[in-house]
Amino acid sequence: MTLSGNFETGEEVRMLRRDFLVKTGQLAGTSFCAVEGLSGMAMSHSNSMAKTSAGTIQTVTGAITPEDAGITLPHEHIMSLFGAEITAKPAYNEEQLYKAVLPYLHKLKELGCGTIADCTTAYFGRAPQILKNISEETGLNILTNTGYYAAANDKYVPSHAYKESAEQLAMRWTKEWEDGIEGTGIRPGFIKIGVDSGPLSEIDRKIVRAAALTHRETGLTTASHTGDNLDSVKEQLQILKEEGVHPNAWIWVHANNVKEPEDLLFAAEQGAWVELDGVRSENAEQHLKLVTLLKKNGYVKQVLLSHDGNSFRYGDRPAKAYDWLFEGFIPLLKSAGFSESQIELLTVHNPARALSIMER
Ligand SMILES: [Zn+2]
Repeated sequence: MTLSGNFETGEEVRMLRRDFLVKTGQLAGTSFCAVEGLSGMAMSHSNSMAKTSAGTIQTVTGAITPEDAGITLPHEHIMSLFGAEITAKPAYNEEQLYKAVLPYLHKLKELGCGTIADCTTAYFGRAPQILKNISEETGLNILTNTGYYAAANDKYVPSHAYKESAEQLAMRWTKEWEDGIEGTGIRPGFIKIGVDSGPLSEIDRKIVRAAALTHRETGLTTASHTGDNLDSVKEQLQILKEEGVHPNAWIWVHANNVKEPEDLLFAAEQGAWVELDGVRSENAEQHLKLVTLLKKNGYVKQVLLSHDGNSFRYGDRPAKAYDWLFEGFIPLLKSAGFSESQIELLTVHNPARALSIMER
């Protein structure tokens, strides 16, 4: 792979392609067609795997079409070891794990869930083979991820990330995309990163840049744990811009934590995805307020909804549910005047577009 490549030519192609995508509504609309015809030209500098995957969604059991994703939860943790020490090889008690998780996921499937993006990153519990077993058992589509989580004061950043360049980290993540993760043959469906609050630290900036470079090679979207930090949003979008990546390839994770709701409009205006991912009964009013604000300003097509739940947590931490969208929030959206098609956009089409593999 060539991360540096012929940048000028690549940049020109990206600009052309972006113009085309904007004109045809690919970046902001709900249609998926016309991507195939472009992929050969626009991804000419990228690897062949990305070309053949353009427009699909990569799950732990293989690629699916966006139309097959169904209702999608873009930010959950089926299991994690968050809170434990950093580890490259998560040691789960699998018997306990399946016993806790499978009945819950069977119920989610019955509620109408089609796809779950698992946001547990490497070094705090990512375990692709377990996700694959669960997917095969439940019939749910599950995505795993590549990337590093540099929030939580960098607790889960491996030591090599400090020594290596953004290009080297991107090569590691791109290799996971090309060859599969840790010998399992299971490929990531998106890039998951995290940054701490305040101005971005050096390691945060490097990880954001590595994500942008990985996107250019793979077409995978980046979901970035950011929270209430507009300055950090601006810095991240600037890094994307420097690397020739459109904000539409970036998800503002935990955007629901903003104290100034108007901040969401800034990111939406740039074209970024705004993820309200703490949906639960206790904060229903706040979520409804934010999604209504985005709707009023014409950005309902860029909103993602999820719970940031966790069905198997470290130690004796209680599970965090991720079914309330179905039983609570969708009915609430209906009673607040959201149309069927707007609800379908929020729960089906938006996450399918956000997670579709496409260089942007
Ligand atoms: Zn999370």
